[in-house]
Amino acid sequence: MASTTGSLWMSSCAPLAPLPQLGTEARAEIAVIGAGYTGLSAALHAASAGRDVLVLEAGEIGEGGSGLNGGQVIAGLKHDPDALERLYGEQAGAQLAACAGSAPDLVFDLIKQYGIECDAVRTGWLQLAVSETQLPGLERRAAQWRSRGADVAVLSARDAAELTGTARYCGGWIDRRGGTVQPLAYLRGLTRACQGHGVRLFARSPARRLARQGGIWRIDTERGAVAAQTVIVATDAYTDRVFDQLRRTVVAVPSIQVASAPLPTELRTRILPHGQSVSDTQRILRYFRLDASGRFVLGTRGAYTDIPSPANTPTHERALRELYPELAGVPIEYRWGGFVAMTRDGIPHLHEPEPGLLAGLGYNGRGVAMATTLGRVLARRALGEPAESLGFPLTPVRPIRLHGFSRMAARAAIRYLQTRDALDRSIGRAPGGG
Ligand SMILES: Cc1cc2nc3c(=O)[nH]c(=O)nc-3n(C[C@H](O)[C@H](O)[C@H](O)COP(=O)(O)OP(=O)(O)OC[C@H]3O[C@@H](n4cnc5c(N)ncnc54)[C@H](O)[C@@H]3O)c2cc1C
Repeated sequence: MASTTGSLWMSSCAPLAPLPQLGTEARAEIAVIGAGYTGLSAALHAASAGRDVLVLEAGEIGEGGSGLNGGQVIAGLKHDPDALERLYGEQAGAQLAACAGSAPDLVFDLIKQYGIECDAVRTGWLQLAVSETQLPGLERRAAQWRSRGADVAVLSARDAAELTGTARYCGGWIDRRGGTVQPLAYLRGLTRACQGHGVRLFARSPARRLARQGGIWRIDTERGAVAAQTVIVATDAYTDRVFDQLRRTVVAVPSIQVASAPLPTELRTRILPHGQSVSDTQRILRYFRLDASGRFVLGTRGAYTDIPSPANTPTHERALRELYPELAGVPIEYRWGGFVAMTRDGIPHLHEPEPGLLAGLGYNGRGVAMATTLGRVLARRALGEPAESLGFPLTPVRPIRLHGFSRMAARAAIRYLQTRDALDRSIGRAPGGG
């Protein structure tokens, strides 16, 4: 399911000049495999530091998660800053929290620096509780970030209702570091920025084989090949069997979105009037926002399917009606989905399995800011910066045991958690997630 069919972003984005397919033997200092935020950010930062960079993309730009996502620019990781310090030690944990906490700055700085037109809005991201038992956890999260200087605030149920236009939530917190973008327009903007720095980009050119000969990496594609000193693999949830060990470090979980017709003005002034985006704390979280033309866009985990249709988005339609009964008469005009790469520890991974071979992946649904940031970390490493000064831990490639069953297990787990969420909603009880 890497189809862009039905994608709102594809329909509302300025086109990109077609990219060539690699059809010759090429050389580069740095070759990047995968042209999502990770790969293009890595290419951009390496090329702007004067390196000769070439990017290979299997499909067209935007066919991976970076062209399909919800466009929520979120600071931080799933783990709170204190937890990161416990997991990695005080100094390394604090550096990781600072790296993830400042990730949205990089996105909005790049947008400004390169004049990327992508409907960027920076009025914050809301994380809202579906039950009161979750509020203390969200308050602690906000306090931890506030003590590290972040612009965040706790929200009462009333604040949440004013900001969202639904009384469904008990409160939560606002993280003003976050915002929204038109995700495909941001990606295409990064593509143009790369081209401006002389990066050579090739579409429809999947890497089929990677091998090292005499200290130089050789990547074979269908019709060409690339020789490079350094290779950066940036294929996230779309990693294929060419990089099988890496593929088995993440579980690719589908996430499906729907977008309504543009809302009438009266609803636009009540629903998310200040342009924030929302993620809630259901076990299977729901995330939503408005786009630039006032369409309501909602996503949640979905069924494994090629092209989402009304028949397989009932969860979305129920969520819409439950959150905003007034949207009942507004038609759904777009349905699309993609895969999110989940890691076992909930943290993105930076790998260097062999000298001159780097990889970054596993954003657990928070890749707009974090993949852009890890792309820059990958470029810094490729430029020779010592691992200790990256501020992001380099970890060994550790495939998940019984990975073949993980997709089946993920599907079963999603169904189970959806059922528990539905039960909780029907009897007004709290889910346990945070
Ligand atoms: C539906 C959905 C909603 C999401 N919502 C959000 C959100 O609101 N906020 C947020 O922060 N994150 C969100 N995410 C996650 C986010 O989109 C990803 O974490 C991020 O885009 C990952 O970027 P990437 O560059 O690492 O990978 P991708 O953008 O997936 O790019 C990987 C690329 O590698 C290419 N590729 C694979 N194999 C090869 C090969 N052999 N040779 C050449 N190229 C190859 C693929 O074609 C693909 O283009 C969402 C994801 C999905 C799917």
